[in-house]
Amino acid sequence: MKKQEIIVACGTDIIQMAAALCKMADLSALIRMSCGKRQPRIALKPNLLGPIPASEGATTHPQAAEGVISYLREQGFEDIVMMESSWVGDRTEDSLLVTGFGALCERLNVPFFDLQKDSAVTVDCAGMMLKICRKALEADFLINLPVAKGHCQTGMTCALKNLKGCIPASEKRRFHRMGLHEPIGHLSAGLKQGFILADAICPDLMFEDGGNPVPLNRLVCAVDPVLLDAYVCGKLGLDPAQVPYIRIAEECGAGSSDLLAASVTMLREDWQNKEARYLEEADSGDTWRNEADCALSVKEMVSDVDSCSACYGTLIPVLHKLEAEGLSFAPGEKLCIGQGWRGMSGAIGIGTCTSGFACSLPGCPPDAVAMERFLRERMASSDQRRGCATT
Ligand code: SF4
Repeated sequence: MKKQEIIVACGTDIIQMAAALCKMADLSALIRMSCGKRQPRIALKPNLLGPIPASEGATTHPQAAEGVISYLREQGFEDIVMMESSWVGDRTEDSLLVTGFGALCERLNVPFFDLQKDSAVTVDCAGMMLKICRKALEADFLINLPVAKGHCQTGMTCALKNLKGCIPASEKRRFHRMGLHEPIGHLSAGLKQGFILADAICPDLMFEDGGNPVPLNRLVCAVDPVLLDAYVCGKLGLDPAQVPYIRIAEECGAGSSDLLAASVTMLREDWQNKEARYLEEADSGDTWRNEADCALSVKEMVSDVDSCSACYGTLIPVLHKLEAEGLSFAPGEKLCIGQGWRGMSGAIGIGTCTSGFACSLPGCPPDAVAMERFLRERMASSDQRRGCATT
């Protein structure tokens, strides 16, 4: 992967998406070139700011880390660790429990270092002396797994600001007294990140602590944290100049914010062809806020009563795709999904829970290919006012 590259994967299988991005970026070659050791210590740094599940839009999905770990192990890397410290006021161990990262590390046998309990070293960060946790500095290669989301003080947070989890609590307080931007920018010079895989599965576009997740179903990777943060700014509808730490990090030599020189590749999950898995397409250039508005219009087509996330999570991207093609139901027509529809009658439903409906797609849950075929027929028949011919 080159410095000016950004690759975006869009889909629903987070583990597969993360592994596919690592493969596409040739992460193994990046690590070997950077470290020159047979078994470098590779540290993964997620965002576990507090005991908040990833579905709230604030913390990294554990599946993203799992995809990276499975790729690294396939490539023969053995010394993989995870590290993080939650924000001041919450204990990292509580975050581990709620986010599922504790269970993940146990299941995959990956050591976790709670940086709230680590000692610190003072480092010259391009002229600013900052305290950085020892374990983070000891890693040979740092893989940053931030959430690309909004932030109430800095406008946005992604690759650069996520490294604030690698400093002690007293230093975090000092960062705030210093106005955040200067020290965050300088931290990029003292703690290098070798690869970034940002979680934009369902980020909160306004607040760092979540609560208003927006389903975007994306993971984004890059090697340049400045470029990635500038890209995420654009997606959040911000000018990178509105986030001063991006310019400061650039001045400290951490990367380039020149998006005009960047190449952005989109990979979209290929439901028709499981072998190929992903198709390349051009970045739409839309902001995520526009897509959030679009997501709301898609949700308005659906009447969801207690659906399972596997069913609903498969349906929404399919509806997105069809809506982008200009397809929709007739005004007033709703698509029903969820266990609350069991034993009830109605017009159009998804899954065995709606088997009593006039038009119902069987399956528990039905897969994305079947959903797309079914909905194409139903949406066309809505236009043409045809009766239900198939279920
Ligand atoms: S069809 Fe199955 S997966 Fe879908 S909502 Fe009903 S029980 Fe859940």
